[in-house]
Amino acid sequence: MGSVKIENLHKSFNGIAALEDVSLEIREGEFFALLGPSGCGKTTTMRCVAGFENPTSGKIYIGDRDVSNIPANQRNCGMVFQSYALFPHLTVFENVAYSLQVRRFYQGGLGTKLSVLGGMLNRKLGKVDKDTEKKVRDSLDFVELGHLADRLPGQLSGGQQQRVALARALIMEPAVLLMDEPLSNLDKKLRNSMRVTIRRIQQKVGITTIFVTHDQEEAMSMADRVAVMQGGKLVQVDSPTALYSNPCSTFVADFVGSSNIFKGMVKSSSDQGTVLQLDGGQLIRSSFGTTRSEVEVIIRPESIMLTADQSEKEAANSLEGTITMSTYLGPSIRYDVQAGNLQFEVDKTFEAGTPLFSPGTKVKLSIDPNLVVIL
Ligand code: ATP
Repeated sequence: MGSVKIENLHKSFNGIAALEDVSLEIREGEFFALLGPSGCGKTTTMRCVAGFENPTSGKIYIGDRDVSNIPANQRNCGMVFQSYALFPHLTVFENVAYSLQVRRFYQGGLGTKLSVLGGMLNRKLGKVDKDTEKKVRDSLDFVELGHLADRLPGQLSGGQQQRVALARALIMEPAVLLMDEPLSNLDKKLRNSMRVTIRRIQQKVGITTIFVTHDQEEAMSMADRVAVMQGGKLVQVDSPTALYSNPCSTFVADFVGSSNIFKGMVKSSSDQGTVLQLDGGQLIRSSFGTTRSEVEVIIRPESIMLTADQSEKEAANSLEGTITMSTYLGPSIRYDVQAGNLQFEVDKTFEAGTPLFSPGTKVKLSIDPNLVVIL
């Protein structure tokens, strides 16, 4: 098993920078997500770690070993791709056994070489030895596909094919597992269950894993830590909860979840907190201090309490508004609320039997100052 260290990584394609000074340390056994919008450099970072891409400058270490100039096949990385990349004419068993057979070919004597080669020339895998047979069976059982060993990939669901790809990567006992958007081809329901499956398998094996995704929900629900990338640079590396509650920029705040983001003028600020005037003239208090006079204010939709009771005593951080729309999200209801000239999104947990606010309802928005983040 290995940690991964990336030092001052730069990568340009035809003089155009794809990665700029990326430095990261991924701990041994950690599930680490690279998250960001299309084209931000996630895949390029991963391909540099795998050795499929030569960095323009910078260093990459796997464990203590500087692998910067070592070819991909000697880096001991397992790869799982969005496209599964299974051989369609080989069975599930043969797909998983394939890499072991290739290794057997290189390491074996003449007899083994001829047997493996003969099979491959027939577009089959050839006879596998007992040790390979056991390893393949164990690894298929591990991903709960032992009963489908004789099927062809075309006879499997997308989720099952991805589990074959995972078994194929893990059977080589790599130091690091690299997964590039592995769930993107699956429908939403399957994607959700595969998140749990992959995480469970990763924890069981304890393998250091780098997982590329543009889906914030996926990254936040699976990873120990997440690196958010923007335009070839790392903008924040943190645990999912820290990213969510303490984003370093409005880009991160917006990327890792829904946010109400407003501009605010600082009226007063001390260690005890800050009083701000929002764009619409409303005064609001945050528990955080700032040295700036103009800030951006981030309020998560679930940080706002909504009540219809207009007679309630005026509390700090309470604004009056009107419901303009409600959207049923399953476990919660998303309300669009107009407060002066500001539009808020507010999430309220759905409780069976509790009437919903209909458009036009006058409401009070109460905002906990501890949850008003200022940047
Ligand atoms: P996506 O989520 O769409 O896969 P990404 O974040 O993984 O995007 P990369 O694939 O790493 O982004 O690409 C980063 C930048 O480098 C992009 O601007 C892309 O067009 C460019 N790029 C990537 N590979 C090449 C290449 N082989 N030749 C030229 N430019 C490339």
